[in-house]
Amino acid sequence: MAKPVVAIIGRPNVGKSTIFNRIVGDRISIVEDIPGVTRDRIYSSAEWLNQSFNIIDTGGIEVGDEPLLQQMRQQAEIAIEEADVIIFMVNGREGITAADEEVAKLLYRSQKPVILAVNKIDNPEMKEQIYEFYSLGFGEPFPISGSHGLGLGDLLDEVVKHFPKKSDEEYDESVIQFCLIGRPNVGKSSLVNAILGEERVIVSDIEGTTRDAIDTRFTRDGQDYVIIDTAGMRKRGKVYENLEKYSVLRALKAIERSDVVLVVLDGERGIIEQDKKIAGYAHEAGRAVVIVVNKWDAVEKDEKTMKEFEQKIRDQFQFLDYAPIVFLSAKTKKRIHTLLPMINLASESHHMRVQTNVLNDVIMDAVAMNPTPTDRGTRLKIYYATQVSIKPPTFVIFVNDPELMHFSYARFLENKIREAFEFTGTPIKIIARARN
Ligand code: GDP
Ligand code: GDP
Repeated sequence: MAKPVVAIIGRPNVGKSTIFNRIVGDRISIVEDIPGVTRDRIYSSAEWLNQSFNIIDTGGIEVGDEPLLQQMRQQAEIAIEEADVIIFMVNGREGITAADEEVAKLLYRSQKPVILAVNKIDNPEMKEQIYEFYSLGFGEPFPISGSHGLGLGDLLDEVVKHFPKKSDEEYDESVIQFCLIGRPNVGKSSLVNAILGEERVIVSDIEGTTRDAIDTRFTRDGQDYVIIDTAGMRKRGKVYENLEKYSVLRALKAIERSDVVLVVLDGERGIIEQDKKIAGYAHEAGRAVVIVVNKWDAVEKDEKTMKEFEQKIRDQFQFLDYAPIVFLSAKTKKRIHTLLPMINLASESHHMRVQTNVLNDVIMDAVAMNPTPTDRGTRLKIYYATQVSIKPPTFVIFVNDPELMHFSYARFLENKIREAFEFTGTPIKIIARARN
């Protein structure tokens, strides 16, 4: 199920990005450390009271150099369309402005819950200043201070209360849900058509248009699939649909609803920075990944070309070393038939459970082969390992001191686990935990 989405809206300088950063906190991201894969600071995942959600700072979505009111209108439109809960932020030091009233008018018309946050209330004496904001008509204003980190707990408690209870567009566990992501023109729409056409599938039902994507359900060889297609949504005519940051947001939502993500590259044009960023999102979300090199028909090739392209992908996408690569052409349909079997394999890996005793044999063999690291005279001791969850497969390793489990040793153990079990196409997670 896709995570709930929270949007922050408000005019410039009320403190949206300050609050955004406070809520998101310092997230540790492996992908972020890869050159060229910088995280966009306008949307991120966050957590409160054990509930994860995504948060967008609509102020960060640039809509050109239009006048303020025009920009506010577009940001409100995005918030209303995308968010489950809207945080409407105003500046407690300035009082209500005309732009605030304009935004309020737009928000009245939406059915979405709106929570009014009055920022820059830096000390308790200033709380008086929130009362005038009752007149905006969104009920109780929440005093906060981005600079001092005050009031955020109460605000988030209220936000979480309004999350939708359950999504009504869920599919059976046995259905493999997948999406195609990639920059514009790599051939995502063509691939969707080729997959559906080539397999001569019975498209049992087009589930209708959700807010974010068109879901097409089909069956092949007894396996049910749903393609979550975001590419086809572009032509709906909204101004902001073509904004790059916005399309990434849309891709993120599709990724979250998927078991398997196809990262589509353009074989003809090669890999660019944007591809890495997009692929990084799939990896971070913990989904199974298949890399698809499309337009292979248009590439002039000899016997080495494919190997060379593969090497380029491995160099550029080191964090996706588990993802299989498929070379094909949506246009000529060449090797299209290899795609679904690869999706099946990745999906199987993604929800595979391994036996605890076999897992422990693998870990103990690994330790015997390559002794655990020491730090200031203390050696890492591994007691026991167990798989705690699937999608992606996640392993907890009980140790004497988790600090001693260095990244490189965790990586070594991951490789040993991968050698022993078939985890093609899926990331796996290793968590070191102190044994009580
Ligand atoms: P945005 O344009 O709405 O994203 O606003 P920013 O987060 O960039 O903040 C605008 C300015 O307000 C910056 O100079 C912040 O340091 C300042 N600011 C943000 N939150 C607070 C706060 O709680 N109190 C005070 N006094 N200043 C704040
Ligand atoms: P999207 O923006 O990723 O959905 O890309 P489209 O499916 O709209 O395709 C973009 C362009 O690439 C179109 O002109 C397609 O005809 C072309 N195209 C798509 N797949 C292939 C392919 O396999 N080979 C070649 N030569 N062109 C392709």
